[in-house]
Amino acid sequence: MPHPKKKLTKAAKGQRRSHHALKAINLSKCENCGKPIKPHRVCLACGQYKKREVIDVTKKLPKKEQAKIIKKKAKEENKDLKKIQKEAVKLKKTESKKEDKKEGMKSVVRGDK
Ligand SMILES: [Zn+2]
Repeated sequence: MPHPKKKLTKAAKGQRRSHHALKAINLSKCENCGKPIKPHRVCLACGQYKKREVIDVTKKLPKKEQAKIIKKKAKEENKDLKKIQKEAVKLKKTESKKEDKKEGMKSVVRGDK
């Protein structure tokens, strides 16, 4: 049997074990849902990493709740689509106005009306 050559004093033992204390882990916030997560790891609450869905969290839920979540997502996406379409229409209008102004300026420079 292996055996220590000399008695280890309480002080030596304490000195060795002075580095054994556990440190609190650093948690960062999930960018999507705001829950505390370990840095550089997927958020297990919403399944996102770097604003991209990596894990389908809904798979573990019962089917009724899955259906609810899918409906919610569909509604949100529809809203987003409508918003995007409205913004696109606004942009088109402003662009056409700008072009009108430019053309107006050109005609002024040319001297024709
Ligand atoms: Zn999250």
